[in-house]
Amino acid sequence: MKKRVLSGIRANGRLHLGNYLGAIKGMLELQDNSDYETLYMVADLHTLTTPYDVEELRKNRREIIIDYLAAGLDHGKSILFQQSSNPYHIELAYLFSTVMTVAKMQHLPTFKEKVKQHPENVTIALLNYPVLMAADILVYKADSIPVGLDQEPHIEVVREIARRMNQDFGTYFPEPKRFKTPGQYVPSLLGEGKMSKSIEGSFINLIDDLATIKSKLAKAPTDSGLEGGNIPETGGVGNLFTLLKLFVDKEIFVKFVIDYREKRIRYSDMKQVLADAIFAELKPFQEKRKYFEENPDVVDQIIKDGNKKASEIARETVEEVKKKMGLL
Ligand code: ADP
Repeated sequence: MKKRVLSGIRANGRLHLGNYLGAIKGMLELQDNSDYETLYMVADLHTLTTPYDVEELRKNRREIIIDYLAAGLDHGKSILFQQSSNPYHIELAYLFSTVMTVAKMQHLPTFKEKVKQHPENVTIALLNYPVLMAADILVYKADSIPVGLDQEPHIEVVREIARRMNQDFGTYFPEPKRFKTPGQYVPSLLGEGKMSKSIEGSFINLIDDLATIKSKLAKAPTDSGLEGGNIPETGGVGNLFTLLKLFVDKEIFVKFVIDYREKRIRYSDMKQVLADAIFAELKPFQEKRKYFEENPDVVDQIIKDGNKKASEIARETVEEVKKKMGLL
């Protein structure tokens, strides 16, 4: 039997370079590897864990499928679906929540971060996020998970749930591993933290045109003076170099590193080169996207088929777990 792969992106905004490099690149690589059966969802239920706008969500849960298709995910090779259209994720999450303690969930760094960001919105759903994520993955018994570095603590919880369920109830869940990409951590344009849909000013979207990319990069902070020496690992300058490395050829990257060391770097030139390189990578995506925007029926059919296929696989797992837990 083929190994399974599951990944998803929340529908809380439009996709950005972090999602593309940290998640979608890995999703594409595994889709084209015939050893794997790949399932990719829009994580619309996870979107409900932070404040959101109902109409925006309705739109984005479809737009992200279009982004997937434009990025090269192919419904002939992968099952593309919407998380909330498959009720088995929630059912399994409830069953899993019986083996996880509240204390464990409260100590996760991702939970603590979200509490800081939205202190007025510390809900049960937010606390339960990693448990639902475990269900998303294990309902397909997926063992390879193409997601960014920020998701590592969640994958650890998934493994722990798999172990507990196997020990306590004799289920056969795999202990999944994260599938890493070179862009597993894309920094924010703001000089600290990661690029994220929910942090205004931190991201470049996949649909941004060259002028927008330039103006976003122009606002990214750099040193006021010329420091020289080694490239800093963090902060505005460090982040720009991280992005540069992901997008330009080695010679160009090395040229800017030497300019920095010798205190003759011009950040405006570096940002110009970076903007052009990012746009060159995004252009084919933007062109392909137009086709799907102009053919909504094609998109609707792909979503309908994907939702059905995903539910069929998930149902089997939930039935098996219910039997083992004494519910059937
Ligand atoms: P966001 O934080 O932008 O809302 P999501 O939580 O929807 O992103 O994450 C979707 C996928 O994109 C996950 O696999 C996540 O690890 C990846 N991802 C998000 N931000 C980054 C980033 N800055 N660098 C690399 N991968 C990222």
